[in-house]
Amino acid sequence: MDRNTLVQEMERLDREIRSCTRCPLCEGAVSHLTGEGRPGSRLLLVAQAPGAQEDAAGRMFIGPSGTVFRKLLHHSGISWDEFYVTNLIKCRLPHNRRPKQLEIRTCSSYLDREIALCQPEILVPLGYYAARYLFVSLLERELSRAAYPSQLGTLIPAGQAKIFPLSHPALLLHQSSREEQLYKQYHLLSVLRSVCIWYEVCPITAYTRTGLIDPVWSDLYCRGDWASCVRYQMEEQHIFHPDRMMPDGTIDRSLP
Ligand code: SF4
Repeated sequence: MDRNTLVQEMERLDREIRSCTRCPLCEGAVSHLTGEGRPGSRLLLVAQAPGAQEDAAGRMFIGPSGTVFRKLLHHSGISWDEFYVTNLIKCRLPHNRRPKQLEIRTCSSYLDREIALCQPEILVPLGYYAARYLFVSLLERELSRAAYPSQLGTLIPAGQAKIFPLSHPALLLHQSSREEQLYKQYHLLSVLRSVCIWYEVCPITAYTRTGLIDPVWSDLYCRGDWASCVRYQMEEQHIFHPDRMMPDGTIDRSLP
């Protein structure tokens, strides 16, 4: 889809969301919040629902958690035109309570359509409920509260896309001791916003295109966390490494 068509389709969807009366949440909401940033970016971030200040102003991430979010983005060097950010639930939840399953079922088709239109390479759920929704809808797998922390800051293949769950910035409003951990998680966004600079000329890309290796290597490293690739690190230091070296530094002797 070309850029003009995408923008028109997103505007059409935004109008639909703003006039939605599918569930009682619309009665207490000032705004039905639509997404912000650049639709069609590689990264699509999914927060939970608007807070009080966001609802009043009709803008995303402008309340207290927005201040934290902007600091985390600034620290990782990411600007708003490098991602698109939206909510799982488009209207404010009373007293910022947790979303109910029925509310998620009723509202999430808007998120599904935003994903279908934007076709992001990496979906970044912020917080448990957005992560659980994407796990169930894209991986057909439940995500328990107990398993959630182990998924944070990890890249998970999900069909044509990948899921990269991050803690919600509001966490730092209650647990400032987690600051360093969140800065580390969000810093990886600066890697994930682009593919590896060696991607087009790297033997790993050629092996993937000719079907000699599992595409998951390329998904997780070359088109994902390329900064942790051993080949990339050696290339940067001008250290010789054989073509058959995999991104984790192991040698696959079956390769030509
Ligand atoms: S294998 Fe490493 S160096 Fe090669 S394209 Fe992938 S991430 Fe970059």
